[in-house]
Amino acid sequence: MSLKSFDIGHGIGKGQFGRVYIARKKISGYIVALKVLSIGELIKVNAERQLRREVEIQMNLRHPNILRLLGYFQDDIYFVLILEYAAKGELYKQLVKSGRLKEKKASRYIAQTARALSYIYQKHVIHRGIKPENLLIDLNNEIKIADFG
Ligand code: ATP
Ligand code: MG
Repeated sequence: MSLKSFDIGHGIGKGQFGRVYIARKKISGYIVALKVLSIGELIKVNAERQLRREVEIQMNLRHPNILRLLGYFQDDIYFVLILEYAAKGELYKQLVKSGRLKEKKASRYIAQTARALSYIYQKHVIHRGIKPENLLIDLNNEIKIADFG
């Protein structure tokens, strides 16, 4: 797979080493998020091991409330993570917009996050960055824990 395998859409997020885009797999039409990281930047700040850990951990987790890492590839310039797309974006943005959540919605999000954390602890993984920016929401209002970097 390469960047040519996808129609790449608009940017949906910005990270330390690159950007996240919505994209569509050309053959299947499947919608994903591509996290495109500059290899040069990764090397400059010695983050290769951290990225490898992110990939190894997230590839092995399967839970409805954990953002799936579907695959990855690289070329000379970029390392690209193929991620499940969370259409409604960050919980952080919802909180900023609505100030506070209704109790029912908040309790659903907390229960989903707790189930996902319980699952990763069983696998002896800790996240170290649980915060509203890293809790994404999909089209069905399901929490997806993201960013295992
Ligand atoms: P790092 O911590 O490795 O530097 P980062 O924290 O900047 O990276 P992410 O948190 O993975 O990168 O992504 C940055 C932002 O892009 C997220 O906060 C979110 O807004 C958006 N984003 C990332 N992945 C997805 C996705 N799969 N679906 C929708 N939005 C996403
Ligand atoms: Mg993040």
